[in-house]
Amino acid sequence: MSQNPRRQFLTHSAALAAAPLLAGLAGRALGQAPARKLGVALCGLGNLSTNQIAPALLKTRNCRLAGIVTGTPSKAEEWKKKYGLADKSVYDYKTMHRMADNKDIDIVYVVTPNSLHLEHALAAAAAGKHVFCEKPMEITVERCQQMLDGLKKAGKMLGVGYRCQFEPNHLECVRLAKEKVLGDVKVIDANFGFAIGDPTQWRLKRELAGGGSLMDVGIYCLQTTRMITGEDPVWINAAEVKTDAVKFKEVDETVMWQTKFPSGVVANCVSTYSANGLAGFRVAASRGWFGLDPAYFYGGNRGRRSDGPEINIPVADQFATELEEFTDAIINKRPTKVPGEMGLQDVKYLTAIYESIKKGRPVSLS
Ligand code: NAD
Repeated sequence: MSQNPRRQFLTHSAALAAAPLLAGLAGRALGQAPARKLGVALCGLGNLSTNQIAPALLKTRNCRLAGIVTGTPSKAEEWKKKYGLADKSVYDYKTMHRMADNKDIDIVYVVTPNSLHLEHALAAAAAGKHVFCEKPMEITVERCQQMLDGLKKAGKMLGVGYRCQFEPNHLECVRLAKEKVLGDVKVIDANFGFAIGDPTQWRLKRELAGGGSLMDVGIYCLQTTRMITGEDPVWINAAEVKTDAVKFKEVDETVMWQTKFPSGVVANCVSTYSANGLAGFRVAASRGWFGLDPAYFYGGNRGRRSDGPEINIPVADQFATELEEFTDAIINKRPTKVPGEMGLQDVKYLTAIYESIKKGRPVSLS
């Protein structure tokens, strides 16, 4: 597991291990601690659940790991022992509906390959559970809409795992942009990629992933441009480059795209599955610049601004932070900062990027 290049790339171990959970949830005040922690069932026990989310759930004040959904019996045994889970809280993908009888589980966190999110989210909703879904929310706008409709019909909340929406260095950059500390934002450069390994993995299969580097890591750059501008793009132009037509037969390898925002801000972004070392963004404004590099790691993100100060705010466990916010929203009956609607909007823009690649010309979104 430690050989996973994606994980090694994203984890800045020292910062990750040392960072305490920040009080005040990266700028959002939490309500009172609940009398009972909400129970979270993890659906899909792959790398992210094993190495990030389950450890994060040991640090959370509002919620705890209360169940698992897995298709692998040996993992079920391992997790039961490691986290003290009762037999009744262990499910496979076909028995998830039985969660309806399990009062210990309030939320299902969907952490399966992208095109399985809808099926697992709807199964959870049908069992009367709230859903927190990993990014990208699904692989088409229609499937995102079906998820939204299903959760709405069930009267349950839906959140998407956009950890950077709570990352304090990102929030500081949003503040610099909003308060025009270095003038008006004009141009944003955002890039994220890694050299993907195993050619047989689901991330390289269209049916499961929906796309390649763009769906997986380009989505972070898209989010950055939307967070910094506070706007939605009106125009997208994109192109794809493949250097390995066999490995990337079904999905994109490297995607470059430009977006224009209503205020006139332009963004220039790259996502790639063929190189390490791209994980940052830079914002050029009328009187200077600011940015983060790295920006998208699990810990250790930091940056600079042209007028001197470093941007280097300790990063709490991003998965604990996003789950605290989502559970706080459920407990206090308020909207989450990362609703399903945001996930759908992003998939709409990713789809427009693919459309632009296919048509070989800009796509208008207004
Ligand atoms: P992974 O391959 O490590 O785990 C996927 C899990 O899904 C495995 O346990 C696998 O057994 C299970 N699974 C169920 N049905 C499957 C099928 N038909 N084919 C393949 N696997 C199946 O993947 P991961 O890295 O944990 O990613 C899972 C989700 O989390 C993805 O949507 C991904 O985009 C997202 N993710 C988010 C972040 C983040 O920083 N927020 C980081 C990594 C992954």
